Amino acid sequence: MMKAMVLESYGKINDSSLNLRNVDIPKPGKHELLVKVNFSGVCHTDLHVIEKELPMEKLPIVPGHQIAGIVAELGSQVRNFEKGDRVGVTWLNSTCGKCEFCRSGKENLCENARFTGYSVNGGFAEYLLVDNDFAFKIPDEFDDEHAAPLFCAGIIGYRAFKLANLQKNQTLAIFGFGASGHIIAQIAEYFENELLVFTRSKEHQKLAKKYGAVWTGEPYEEPIEKADAVIITAPVGELVIEALNNTKRGGRVAIQDIYMSNIPPIDYNKLLYYERWIGSVTNYTRKDAKEFLHLASEIPIKTQIKRFRLEDANKALVMLKSGRIEGAGVLKI
Ligand SMILES: [Zn+2]
Ligand SMILES: [Zn+2]
Repeated sequence: MMKAMVLESYGKINDSSLNLRNVDIPKPGKHELLVKVNFSGVCHTDLHVIEKELPMEKLPIVPGHQIAGIVAELGSQVRNFEKGDRVGVTWLNSTCGKCEFCRSGKENLCENARFTGYSVNGGFAEYLLVDNDFAFKIPDEFDDEHAAPLFCAGIIGYRAFKLANLQKNQTLAIFGFGASGHIIAQIAEYFENELLVFTRSKEHQKLAKKYGAVWTGEPYEEPIEKADAVIITAPVGELVIEALNNTKRGGRVAIQDIYMSNIPPIDYNKLLYYERWIGSVTNYTRKDAKEFLHLASEIPIKTQIKRFRLEDANKALVMLKSGRIEGAGVLKI
């Protein structure tokens, strides 16, 4: 048996959303790894799952999808890992490998993907299963607690940064400065991009300054300059208007949320014309993950973490929702 924090009914996050249960340790299928979880990050997507803002229904479910742990058991056909390997597990738990998206290098859009902590049990537990092709070796530069946030906040942030398509010395603006924001800031600095950060939280503004922002302010304040690209990390539709307002001609707005409230009407002539682009970031490919982990070691990215116990997952999620975690929250399992 193992301990797990289990979601048994949907609803607004509170101190008893997830319940501590003893459940069976799962057995790996032929191509799966059983991973012993050491640290598991909390993410806004966990809140969207719990609060039923995503379409799929699957209960009971163990949330959690940014995991650092070790391989405890291997399926009979697994050749690329050994017991004891340090591995990270992410949101994509497997893809089908057969659909038109998988076949054309866009497995992030797979129609039959399975998702850790949403369609299959995730990392708020002592063990979880993952397809052996969707586990990643943790670079030696990182201990487990600092590695865990790399596996969602980091990888998704990296894909958003790529879609933002910045050249050296251009200016990036980030809306929201949580786990992902503080990692994107370090990528932007590495590629010599100037950084503007919009966030309501004074603490997050302070943190953004520490990570190199040349300007910080609230979402409706006027920054010192317009940005060449904007990444939105908060699930608030109005921010798309604000982002376009602060984007130069030809600039891009990348939205990295899995869920967002409705976007108000967009004034085409004022906000979108002059070849401004808006796009969403959906999952990531294994290629993104490998590129990012390599880059993270090279920079090297330093994640700022706040530790919680597994039993305190609800508390961590409540704090995340109200913007009271600086950097990334991780559960010690
Ligand atoms: Zn996530
Ligand atoms: Zn597919």
